[in-house]
Amino acid sequence: QTWVFDFEDGNKERKDLLGGKGANLAEMVNLGMPVPPGFTITTEACRAYLVAGDDPAGLFEQVDEHLWTLEQKMGRRLGDPDDPLLVSVRSGAKFSMPGMMETVLNIGLNDVSVAGLARASGDERFAMDSYRRLLHMYGTTVLGLPGEEFSAEMDALKERRGVRLDVDLDVDDLRALVASYQEIVLRGSGRPFPQEPRDQLTGAVRAVFESWNTPRAMLYRRQERIPEDLGTAVNVQAMVYGNRGSASGSGVAFTRDPASGAPGVYGDYLVNAQGEDVVAGVRNTVSLADLAELDRPSHEALLEVMARLEQHYRDLCDIEFTIEDGHLWMLQTRVGKRTPEAAFRIASTMIDEGLIDADEALGRVTGAQLARLMFPRFDPEARRNLVATGMNASPGAAVGRAVFDSATAVAWAERGDAVILVRKETTPDDLHGMVAATGILTSRGGKTSHAAVVARGMGRTCVCGAEAIHVDAEHRQARLRNGNGDHLVIHEGDVISIDGTTGEVFIGAVPVVSSVVVRHLEGELGDPHDADAHGELVVAVSRLLNHADAVRRLEVRANADTPDDAGRARRFGAEGIGLCRTEHMFLGERRELVENLILAENEEERLAALRALLPLQRADFIDILEAMDGLPVTIRLIDPPLHEFLPDLTDLAVAVALEDERGNNDSRHHRLLDAVRRLHEQNPMLGLRGVRLGIMIPGLVRMQVRAVLEAAGERILAGGDPRPELMVPLVADERELELVHGMIAEVAAAVAAERGVEVGHLVGTMIELPRAAVTADRIARCADFFSFGTNDLTQMTWGFSRDDVESSFFSEYLDHGIFAVSPFESIDREGVGEMVRIATRLGRETNPALHIGVCGEHGGDPESIEFFEEVGVDYVSCSPFRVPVARLEAGRAAL
Ligand code: ADP
Ligand code: MG
Ligand code: MG
Repeated sequence: QTWVFDFEDGNKERKDLLGGKGANLAEMVNLGMPVPPGFTITTEACRAYLVAGDDPAGLFEQVDEHLWTLEQKMGRRLGDPDDPLLVSVRSGAKFSMPGMMETVLNIGLNDVSVAGLARASGDERFAMDSYRRLLHMYGTTVLGLPGEEFSAEMDALKERRGVRLDVDLDVDDLRALVASYQEIVLRGSGRPFPQEPRDQLTGAVRAVFESWNTPRAMLYRRQERIPEDLGTAVNVQAMVYGNRGSASGSGVAFTRDPASGAPGVYGDYLVNAQGEDVVAGVRNTVSLADLAELDRPSHEALLEVMARLEQHYRDLCDIEFTIEDGHLWMLQTRVGKRTPEAAFRIASTMIDEGLIDADEALGRVTGAQLARLMFPRFDPEARRNLVATGMNASPGAAVGRAVFDSATAVAWAERGDAVILVRKETTPDDLHGMVAATGILTSRGGKTSHAAVVARGMGRTCVCGAEAIHVDAEHRQARLRNGNGDHLVIHEGDVISIDGTTGEVFIGAVPVVSSVVVRHLEGELGDPHDADAHGELVVAVSRLLNHADAVRRLEVRANADTPDDAGRARRFGAEGIGLCRTEHMFLGERRELVENLILAENEEERLAALRALLPLQRADFIDILEAMDGLPVTIRLIDPPLHEFLPDLTDLAVAVALEDERGNNDSRHHRLLDAVRRLHEQNPMLGLRGVRLGIMIPGLVRMQVRAVLEAAGERILAGGDPRPELMVPLVADERELELVHGMIAEVAAAVAAERGVEVGHLVGTMIELPRAAVTADRIARCADFFSFGTNDLTQMTWGFSRDDVESSFFSEYLDHGIFAVSPFESIDREGVGEMVRIATRLGRETNPALHIGVCGEHGGDPESIEFFEEVGVDYVSCSPFRVPVARLEAGRAAL
């Protein structure tokens, strides 16, 4: 078995085996870019190691062979006492997990070779600096010692020497630091730091394997839905040195701005630095423009490499690079993470640049990203108490209470507080807190810092590098000076607002307004090109939405119960209403009329109550049919159990008891109380509801049908084009539907005769019970359409009630992997999805013309939409705000 590949032998398609980092390093090598040579140990080796708990057979023999080739290539031997080759040992899984796993630099240094490195480079300070870094990284990563011990030693030394930065320490300081680090290693691990370079290498490789299973890596994978069993590859690579003085340095860069998507390179560079320094915020970085001043040839070489990478990958790339003594080295590239705004802008701009076509552009944006762009933002008129500005690292408008550590963030979020996590900088240990927080604010680091990268990945609002803020985590406060020079303190619990789109930080709660994308879709912006700075974004969004409309097969309808919602849905591109619920039409002031219906003691009273309801319902339908003129409107007959329209049992019982005591005997209240008791159910979800109501109280259904058809008749007379579809809920058996179908036919004939207009309409049913799904061939014989009520279908198939379970055992179910995501959020393909598949097939067998849709939350969920496309239903229906998301995802699903 081949466990190891030289960089030359890989390419970017082999991420499964070589990990993203290894595959892309190989790609750059093959493009002839300046990459330090090295080799990759496969993810297979990692999986084998983790399963067996031991080195896979032959692994380290193969490592030896490849190391030998590397030594030949470099003309130096690992850890050679005179002129040592040093290597880095770098993790790199298939999917990037920034900062989640381990990397060890400068492997091969020991007490002897450090002197060799000093002689060969002529720079003893640099050699010592490299050694102290190795001791620190090896100590924490391989030996598992606490990082604070090392940093505390470093801080104490800086304090004693009266300096602020690591670069201010001289060679003697660093030698002392090396000695105390060795002390820490000896004390902590019970053994001296391993002097044998090969032992260091082996230890580091195993440690990288094991870092796959650290709690923070596992948490990250769960967040990002990365499978647990992939394992990481390990890259062993010759070191190049950014810490070799002022003509050296280390940096990270993007080929375009990953926050806004604006064209033009973006990056951070740190002089005389190695590895993580640049993202860890140990010193403040400079921009790429500043690098051009410092080292023009390297800057030019960098820009050329970046331009080639973008052409080659045809996408935004992010890179890590090091300059050693005026020589540029590429250490990493990948297709870069980006904000939703940047995703849309880059996809659209790249069509114009001829890099990609419209289909590919559509494939590069997601419904989830569009949903985020539709979030509200801060009201520009109400931006008060601006106290600081940092980097706009991850967009959004977040308001919450300031907390200064992750444990508090988690605790407060659990009790329902929105919190903003305020840190000097974040580390992978802050992940829990970042997940819990609404927003993240840091005082150090740029758009490539840990906080920024992770926040963007999770969709949290983030402002980073707000340097005016002095974060004092120990005292749970932050101090700053505002523009007027006033000293201010933010205490734990104070409400602050952060704007991830502009980088602004406010004290207090800033009110939020709707997003520019929403205003555009609402038609409020006029010509998007001259709207404002967001014009580019709006152009990109509508362009990609239009393309999605052109390629999608699925129709998109909306769930809307009011004329307002119907109007909005239509502006957002809905092609009809897939679910208009009628129950709200029985609430408010009309509750009393429903009570009359329930309390009716004879047919006459019952008819009177229904007669009173009829004109009200009719008026509701006229407005909705008008808002959706020319498009289908699916109206669901009353669904919930009647007791939902009656007063609460306890309240009523108390009221009646009080009245009895006072001697005023209100007989209506007594009758109501009787009715409530009579209608009380143990399991209302499984009780007298849906089609069962229509069978028990036929007058109710007749009244509803009459209201719809009369309303449609009026629309026709007014020159409109109403297209009502009557939908019967909770059908389990064909007979139920036949009964209601008969009533509808009678009412339709009566209305046509009375009014002299024939009202075209469809009659269909919801499929939301397992029995309905498996007998769908029979049910379809008397249905024009099916609509999968996937909320109820999920409840009924799993046998649990959403209202009860989500807050009780769902988190355990997720922990145990019983499902990876709530089945109410994304359709459970194997179970509930199978019901949909079966019913679709059976229904079309007996009724090929059957029109099939999905209403319920899943209709607006990207993953579920992909599934519905696969199953071949005709349309999805979702809430008005999800309509653009569904259009986009339906387009993507059709690609
Ligand atoms: P991560 O996946 O966390 O980004 P990396 O493996 O990319 O970890 O290592 C982090 C940093 O270490 C790199 O960005 C680079 O600056 C530095 N580094 C890694 N390998 C080398 C090397 N061979 N020479 C110089 N620096 C290196
Ligand atoms: Mg990296
Ligand atoms: Mg239902």
